[in-house]
Amino acid sequence: MIDYPGILAEIYDAVQPLLAQGKVADYIPELAHISPDKFGMAVQTVGGELYCIGDAAEKFSVQSVSKAFTLTMAMRLEGDAIWRRVGREPSGTAFNSLVQLEYENGIPRNPFINAGALVVMDMILSHYPDAKQAVLDFVRLLSGSEGIGFDTAVAQSEKSTGYRNAALAYFLKSFGNLQNHPEEVLDAYFHHCSLAMSCVEVAQAGMFLANDGRLPWDGQVILSRSQAKYVKALMQTCGTYDAVGDFAYRVGLPGKSGVGGGILAIMPDVFSVCVWSPGLNAQGNSLAGTKALELLTTLTAISIF
Ligand code: GLU
Repeated sequence: MIDYPGILAEIYDAVQPLLAQGKVADYIPELAHISPDKFGMAVQTVGGELYCIGDAAEKFSVQSVSKAFTLTMAMRLEGDAIWRRVGREPSGTAFNSLVQLEYENGIPRNPFINAGALVVMDMILSHYPDAKQAVLDFVRLLSGSEGIGFDTAVAQSEKSTGYRNAALAYFLKSFGNLQNHPEEVLDAYFHHCSLAMSCVEVAQAGMFLANDGRLPWDGQVILSRSQAKYVKALMQTCGTYDAVGDFAYRVGLPGKSGVGGGILAIMPDVFSVCVWSPGLNAQGNSLAGTKALELLTTLTAISIF
């Protein structure tokens, strides 16, 4: 029997000195205001228990954590056809890099770098007249929480400064790898990045991945078992920027991080966990959040390895 409350309390104390060491993302002006003192963590078990500590109920900007959910949507809509337009290898370059896209003829290395997520969003746009609402409905379904919404101030802030993402979208269009107008794709992309969710909501939204593709509370099939494996494999190999090796080594769970300081990680058949601490390390992952997950797998003695 794992003592989750005791372990979370130990993690909470251990990360306090680290909170000041990370750097809050400020390239999206609206994110720069967040206090680096925040720390929350929620573990939702497949058995139905929820364990929380710190600011686990406070909403934060999930940013690229949402890419695990949009990839899931695209997989439901297009199945393996998505791999004609996006790869599934780690990029070894920055998440917003343009260079590789030129060399590789407009096919992004994976769905989690920005170029790949823009192509994924384009796929979703081609299926829904109101793709932003479709993303919102889907994330609400996954988390079982109707209270999830976009933070339009964050979306607007990124829209007015996101020149590099705009460059990526127009570049993709020039290669014929976007079906919709780049501005439409960017608008939907900035919105899904701006989703405001708590650690509890993100952990719950990840539960279908911990449960072989099904929502544990009603058995609804979100993905097939194999497709759930694909998403987790992508998280493991491409989900934490240029630190996937270090993250696998230290944490040993598939994870997806975002520059808002959130990380979703999955222990198949056991739990889904979300940690949030806004201070980032040099690779763009939450510094204290990564340490917290490392401690979680160490203290519980469970990881996928
Ligand atoms: N919206 C952010 C961007 O495109 C997401 C970055 C991230 O969390 O990785 O720059």
